[in-house]
Amino acid sequence: MRAVMFHEYGEPNVLQVGTADNPIAGPNEVVVELGAIGVNHVELDVRDGSSRFDIDLPHIPGMEGAGTVIEVGSHVTTLEIGQRVAMTYLRTCDACVECMSGNEIFCPTRTLLGWQIQGTYAERIAVPASMCLPIADSLSFQSAAASIVTLGSAWHALTSRAQVKVGETVLIHSIGSGVGTAGLQICKKAGARVIGTVGSDAKIQQALDAGADHVFNHQSHDFVEEVMAYTQGRGVDVVLDMVGGEAFARSMFAMRPSGRLVTVGAHGGEVVELDVISFFRNHVTYMGSHSMSRLELGKVLDLLADGTFVPEIHGVYPLEEASEAHRLLTNRENFGKVLLDPSL
Ligand SMILES: [Zn+2]
Repeated sequence: MRAVMFHEYGEPNVLQVGTADNPIAGPNEVVVELGAIGVNHVELDVRDGSSRFDIDLPHIPGMEGAGTVIEVGSHVTTLEIGQRVAMTYLRTCDACVECMSGNEIFCPTRTLLGWQIQGTYAERIAVPASMCLPIADSLSFQSAAASIVTLGSAWHALTSRAQVKVGETVLIHSIGSGVGTAGLQICKKAGARVIGTVGSDAKIQQALDAGADHVFNHQSHDFVEEVMAYTQGRGVDVVLDMVGGEAFARSMFAMRPSGRLVTVGAHGGEVVELDVISFFRNHVTYMGSHSMSRLELGKVLDLLADGTFVPEIHGVYPLEEASEAHRLLTNRENFGKVLLDPSL
């Protein structure tokens, strides 16, 4: 089968389409023919060698995908050939305390598609049947693949962790990103007002068109001053941050007392200096959020199928243009999700 792989760490051009062995379903596995594949920032780290995982080279990246089951292992009773599915990217033991209590994201033996194990940038993949969630016929592979990481992560962060409520104001850093556009939809459905930051003027109107109430370029505007001015000096109730660095450290000054920040990423700086005095005096809450449970992913897929959420998709590219897809994400030129489609 065709697959995108790299033989050495490096720039986007190390991604090449090559031939990999056709996957075969083990007893508890299925083979999925991929209809759409999501491209994520973490794959840039895996590709350039800065991720904190040891990986075997050559490596097929990719943690996100949706497609059709084309082979079923001998012990699999929950899926059939021809079934349409989306995949969670967490491979877990399904037997430990964390797995049994719905917290499989903390399974001590979990591994991730496209990180420790070969990923989805391919025509087909073999995965445990337990990683596959059936999707409705009304849900396209592109919408499903575009939403696993973005909408799943944003859903877990904003509903389970930060618990955004009607009438609240939310600041979303980097609102044009995949998680940002998904978070915007969740906040608007929850009845919240949304302020967003973008890194280029071209994205301002796109974010407003997507439903944001106020958007500004953080390159030309200090985000704390802008947010405090827009909220008449009150600050926001909630911050969704996937940037890290200064956005993380200074967000507490754009929050009302007892405000809460939920973080899901740190590509703009993994280690920060924090003003601890302001932090405790203002009853600030900073909370981490990672991934989503299968239960939450199932909910998100249902809400996509019934049209409650519509993912923002920047573009769909053939496997041969995976390096171009990585370049787009590196330069943050995308508004919404970048996808690969092996059939193109
Ligand atoms: Zn487990």
